[in-house]
Amino acid sequence: MALEIIRSIREMQSIADNLRFDKKRIGVVPTMGYLHDGHASLIQAASDISDSVIVTLFVNPKQFAAHEDLSRYPRDFDKDCKIAEQAGAHFLFAPSDEEMYPNGFATSISISGITQKFEGFFRPSHFDGVATVVTKLLLATKPHIAVFGQKDYQQTLVIKRLVADLNLDVEVYIKPTIRETEGLAMSSRNVYLSETERIQSLVISQAVTDAYTAVESGERNREQLNTILKTTLLSIEHIEIEYAVTANAETLEEPDIFTETESIVFLIAVKIGSTRLIDNAVWNPRQTN
Ligand code: AMP
Repeated sequence: MALEIIRSIREMQSIADNLRFDKKRIGVVPTMGYLHDGHASLIQAASDISDSVIVTLFVNPKQFAAHEDLSRYPRDFDKDCKIAEQAGAHFLFAPSDEEMYPNGFATSISISGITQKFEGFFRPSHFDGVATVVTKLLLATKPHIAVFGQKDYQQTLVIKRLVADLNLDVEVYIKPTIRETEGLAMSSRNVYLSETERIQSLVISQAVTDAYTAVESGERNREQLNTILKTTLLSIEHIEIEYAVTANAETLEEPDIFTETESIVFLIAVKIGSTRLIDNAVWNPRQTN
């Protein structure tokens, strides 16, 4: 079946109703487009566990601050259609800004706690924008499952919180970060990087790898782990670190010393030139049985 492009929320909802009437399991993959292999892996994962896959493509203005890269965010609609279809999508839901936020739109979904630090600190209204658009996209596509990438780690926690708190009837799946062969996490924003910056940006995945290795060797001191992250990042010039932190992977709390049984996440946001990049890695304590 060829990829069907849907622009209207009403039409999307009526398609979803029909699919549900036909007992089809709907999987959705929300994206901002300019799709790469990371997005494709989520679409493939959705198609493995559902009958009808909807990819949403919407560059959500509400999750960008005024000074951020909304107007230059990369777009390639035809290529996105091809990638989505090849990866197993049946529908591409690509509404306009006016369709999503018509005149008079006044609602915002705000989540407290985990949204306040790290990404939320540097991008204060970002997670409200994410929570609002994800809720609208779920209401438009009525999925049984929704697939997100670990690449946006804090976002995955926010979405799980949103789904739990609002009793949204959807199962959330988180899939691993897909990387270039040298380690750089794939991102639509990588297209902004010059050749030199692309090479420099390898320190980001290297930093989380170094910290992960340290935890594997028994390091549990948060300051020490943060120092490892920062030392690797600062091995190149012209890098601006927004945050390079180690936290409890479920709560984002930052104890001085991690216990032997807690999951740990390393979270990084840096600017290389004018490009803002994020990455993370999660360390889980081994099962002892
Ligand atoms: P975006 O288009 O950047 O909003 O991302 C849409 C979805 O794709 C989000 O759930 C991201 O976490 C996920 N994603 C982005 N980059 C990657 C990647 N390199 N590997 C896996 N998933 C990704």
